[in-house]
Amino acid sequence: MTQLPEDAIKCLDKGFVRLVDSMGGDDAIVQAARVSYGQGTSKVSQDRGLIRYLMRHRHTTPFEMVEFKFHCKMPIFVARQWVRHRTANINEYSLRYSEARDEFYIPKPEHIQFQSALNKQGRSGEVPAELKQKVLDYFKENSERSFSLYQELNEAGVARELARSLLPVNIYTEWYWKNDLHNLLHFIGLRSDGHAQYEIRVFSDAMAHYVKEKAPFAWEAYQDYVVHGMRFSRVEQGLLEKQLPPRVIDDISEDIAYQITATLHKGKPRDENDLYPLYQKQGGSDSESDFKLKWESGEIETSNIRELREFREKLISLKK
Ligand SMILES: Cc1cc2nc3c(=O)[nH]c(=O)nc-3n(C[C@H](O)[C@H](O)[C@H](O)COP(=O)(O)OP(=O)(O)OC[C@H]3O[C@@H](n4cnc5c(N)ncnc54)[C@H](O)[C@@H]3O)c2cc1C
Repeated sequence: MTQLPEDAIKCLDKGFVRLVDSMGGDDAIVQAARVSYGQGTSKVSQDRGLIRYLMRHRHTTPFEMVEFKFHCKMPIFVARQWVRHRTANINEYSLRYSEARDEFYIPKPEHIQFQSALNKQGRSGEVPAELKQKVLDYFKENSERSFSLYQELNEAGVARELARSLLPVNIYTEWYWKNDLHNLLHFIGLRSDGHAQYEIRVFSDAMAHYVKEKAPFAWEAYQDYVVHGMRFSRVEQGLLEKQLPPRVIDDISEDIAYQITATLHKGKPRDENDLYPLYQKQGGSDSESDFKLKWESGEIETSNIRELREFREKLISLKK
């Protein structure tokens, strides 16, 4: 088994994730998207806007143009969850061909907790020191005992493909795992989430580190729209339509008109006299004096214009 390579991120006690190779990044997403939308100018700010648009509208294939190949070493019970993600290409260390190594996952004491009463797939609550020690002893005893039986069968010439079935699932395995960015983000979305088991989360977080580095705009958009975004069901929208006072929708729409004006002004500075008409053109309805007061407060944020307009459309559709 491979020991921790210099350029890898250590995961758990003996595992790691290492980026072996990657193809493309934010630029490859933009390049692919421009094939479908026709050529356009490509300033960095426009690239970011386009990537955010694609993510918002779930136009996913441009994200598949970016590829990541990882070398990972993890306990078999983690690999067992990992392989459920079917879109990856995997090549794993073979225990039919090679002998297993004496490398087992032993949890850190702070990760030994009770079965959660609320979450059937989780743990919670501090375990007393004595019980923790027992857990650690059992992990070690079971790993050592099964490995020595495995070795005995190996030495007696029993086929490795059969002898390996004595080994427990905390033994380490390793593989090359290749996936495209769209499916990798999906993996990270599920496996870096608090509902995922801690032992797979650390590997997912390590892969996320490389994604952030290679495709920062795509990463940011995924966080904004998928991880921290919210969708409303038809029933939920119905409730919002009924209960959200039109006054609140109008207030938010006003804020949007200010933000669009500020963003347009930032991109292409206007004369002072042109600002109020520009704001009115964006749907703003404050009086000129109120506009000036708010504008001069310097508190208006800038954002993505298309995104703001889409948000306003959604809000207006909720207005009964
Ligand atoms: C917190 C957590 C708890 C879980 N608990 C359980 C459990 O108790 N039992 C259990 O069995 N699993 C469990 N899973 C695994 C889970 O059900 C999924 O199998 C796993 O997360 C892979 O998701 P996926 O199918 O979306 O991903 P991938 O296999 O990577 O697929 C990505 C996407 O491609 C599409 N796709 C891929 N293959 C097909 C196909 N053959 N047909 C149609 N569409 C396809 C789907 O849109 C899919 O979302 C759990 C997962 C998590 C994150």
